Amino acid sequence: METVSEQPKVWTQDSASGEKRNVWLALKRGLRGRCPRCGQGKLFRAFLKVADHCEVCGLDFTPHRADDLPAYLVIVIVGHIVVPTILWVETNYSPPVPLQLAIYLPLTLVLSLLLLQPVKGAVVGVQWAMRMHGFDEQNPEP
Ligand SMILES: [Zn+2]
Repeated sequence: METVSEQPKVWTQDSASGEKRNVWLALKRGLRGRCPRCGQGKLFRAFLKVADHCEVCGLDFTPHRADDLPAYLVIVIVGHIVVPTILWVETNYSPPVPLQLAIYLPLTLVLSLLLLQPVKGAVVGVQWAMRMHGFDEQNPEP
């Protein structure tokens, strides 16, 4: 008895057909809080709430799965700005600790709040451009 084993069809990004999606363009549009496909519609309906769809081209934003990635990226970016600054100031000027805290804590908070929305927009834009999650209509996986 011979068993015929059929290779399961594996969906990959390359096997997807349809319009070409420019990752860098989608990333830049996401950074500006705009729809990654048309660049005109608003991506967010609130500070960190992604809209359900683009009001201009109708692109469905609900398949995005940004989750905690924007927060992790913001921590890395802000950390790479604030920590070297603290080390440089401490090494060269050594100001009193209360003064340092009065500057660095608000600086960290403000930088984080300023970066969160653009970074989340960029993550959603990249997910759309790379057809991740539900952003590819031809993906057979649910
Ligand atoms: Zn759009």
